[in-house]
Amino acid sequence: MTIPSLANLPPLREALERHGLLARKSFGQHFLLDLNITRKIARMAQVGEGDTVIEVGPGPGGLTRALLETGAKVIAVEKDSRFLPLLGELAEAADGRLTLVEGDALRADMAALAGGPAHMVSNLPYNVGTQLLIDWLTGPFRPLSMTLMFQKEVADRIAAQDGDDAYGRLAVISQTVCSAKVVMDLPARAFTPPPKVASAVVHLVPLAPAPDKAMVSALERVTAAAFGQRRKMLRSSLKTLGGGALCEAAGIDPDARAETISVDGFQDLARAFQALI
Ligand code: SAM
Repeated sequence: MTIPSLANLPPLREALERHGLLARKSFGQHFLLDLNITRKIARMAQVGEGDTVIEVGPGPGGLTRALLETGAKVIAVEKDSRFLPLLGELAEAADGRLTLVEGDALRADMAALAGGPAHMVSNLPYNVGTQLLIDWLTGPFRPLSMTLMFQKEVADRIAAQDGDDAYGRLAVISQTVCSAKVVMDLPARAFTPPPKVASAVVHLVPLAPAPDKAMVSALERVTAAAFGQRRKMLRSSLKTLGGGALCEAAGIDPDARAETISVDGFQDLARAFQALI
């Protein structure tokens, strides 16, 4: 039997049918079966020959195919073992550039998997997408870039500016570690089966120099308190962390509310909190 190349693999729908695979809700499975869309995401990710990409949740492999077509090496972590035979066919067609890892991305050691600098590109499972992003932003592995599909509402929360309705903890932590931009919107009908809500792709690039880990930990505490009671003035919402005195040490108006404080302002609060403890 001749091994197909990437260019003559069967359409994704046909591959799913041949393997008798149906989407499972418990794994957050909403597939992109249109290669024009997955190729567009691969272009947004700006990856190419010689790059290493980690993909969480390859599923039927539509995005994986598009990433492999760029010439990149892909390490794909999939929790649902039903997809491994189908993905094995893709690995055969990819001349050793696709490594499949069966497992839970929440428990995976991304640095060990990557073995060096790597980009992250994924259509993330909705149920764990935000948790994975927080882990990657605050954990030991620093990807070269992250191009990630989320529910539109989550994407907006990542890229929001102070004063926006969507502005909160996720924006402050994401934008302290990375630049973050929504680069593509996708309607629910682009997925099989369609989810209840629209989706969007966010492109994140870690800022240089990397922020101090202890400052990011302090920022997690300050933003949890401030946005936990976002309608209250900071002197009150930050009471257990130093309240008005903390705000004054950071040069922030204690009568202001969390949603009006910029990312830089929150970093000042985090540094002032570090100095207090
Ligand atoms: N990348 C495929 C696509 O675009 O068509 C599938 C995307 S689907 C939204 C999410 C994928 O993540 C599914 O394949 C699902 O099985 C997988 N998944 C869910 N939870 C996971 C986890 N904790 N670790 C790794 N993969 C997971």
